[in-house]
Amino acid sequence: MSLPIAELVPPHIRAFEAYVPSRPDAELMRTYKVDHLHRLNNNENALGPPPAARRVLESFEPPSAAAYPSGDCFFLRQTLGERFGKDPERFLVGNGSCEVIASVIKAFCDKGDNIITADKTFAVYEWVAEFSGFQARLIPLRNQGFDSEAMLRAMNGRTKILFVCNPNNPTGTWWKRDEMERFLRGVAGRAIVVLDEAYREYVDDEDFPDGMEIMERHKNVVVFRTFSKMYALAGLRVGYVCGQKDAVDYIRRTHIVYSVNSLGQPAAAAALLDDAEHIRSTQAMVAEAKALLLPAFDELGLPYVCGAGNFAMVQTPASDSLIYRQLMRRGVMVRTMTGFRFPNWIRVSLVQQPVMRDFLSAFRDVVDLVRQGGAA
Ligand SMILES: *Cc1c(COP(=O)(O)O)cnc(C)c1O
Repeated sequence: MSLPIAELVPPHIRAFEAYVPSRPDAELMRTYKVDHLHRLNNNENALGPPPAARRVLESFEPPSAAAYPSGDCFFLRQTLGERFGKDPERFLVGNGSCEVIASVIKAFCDKGDNIITADKTFAVYEWVAEFSGFQARLIPLRNQGFDSEAMLRAMNGRTKILFVCNPNNPTGTWWKRDEMERFLRGVAGRAIVVLDEAYREYVDDEDFPDGMEIMERHKNVVVFRTFSKMYALAGLRVGYVCGQKDAVDYIRRTHIVYSVNSLGQPAAAAALLDDAEHIRSTQAMVAEAKALLLPAFDELGLPYVCGAGNFAMVQTPASDSLIYRQLMRRGVMVRTMTGFRFPNWIRVSLVQQPVMRDFLSAFRDVVDLVRQGGAA
């Protein structure tokens, strides 16, 4: 007689609900009977990777797939070190920054410890803490942004990490330099502060507090960056953490070696070295998309939230899952936001004009339909 499996499972795992990723596009297109699908659900960069990264991908020799990649992303870390003027040893690269989130939590949290973040932000911080058995203290947003004072008040002797998503996904808000300074002085080195700068390259503002500079003054700060968003390499899964050498050395102990593959490493390095024009054209695309979408949301009388980053959120006049299904039938995939604690909002990636126009025309149709009571 064997035990029921559930009895082998710790309570925090039994209580945890697995995230269900969306099905592949081909499956969805079959289900919704459409012959094309605009992916506007994941904040992907629709321009695709910069030219130098494409050339790396095209020149990959299939036989070299037999060899393990560099176990610690040797050359990519050298490139990162040169770009940011830091010792390559201060970078730790992961299979997307999601993997690095897990490594940081494993490195610093012990039984009974907690982490602090916002209630409406990138959910992976909260999820990893909880399925690892640590408390996630979720501080409500204030004016759609992280509430620095409430986060400081929530700290106690067991707080190990504060996660600040700057700019925030999904609201696009960010702390300016003075708010960041005040917050870091308040933390006073008592805990690790993670600045998740996944959308940093979308912000061109003197007042943006650049984590790569801040970490030189506040030694408890570590910064996450990713190649998934601006650099359009989400499918290859490359992200990293940078911080003081001692912090990164501890994080490395908990990190799986060889987790970044042979295609991702050189593609990411090439993307970084060929980013100036790519960043300019991506920023221009995003600005044009905002100029088209936001007035249209106003016209529809729908509240929206849109700040830094390549995404906008809009409140829907019916359940977000209904709107999602109706948009899918019209070949447009958006993100439902109920799971992000924005019930009946959707988030849309900001991409090229023709696709934005397709989205708007589908969205107007669907909004009309539900306002007339005709959607199911
Ligand atoms: C998309 C995103 C990431 C990137 O995750 P990867 O694992 O690097 O693809 C990290 N943080 C935030 C806030 C994001 O939106």
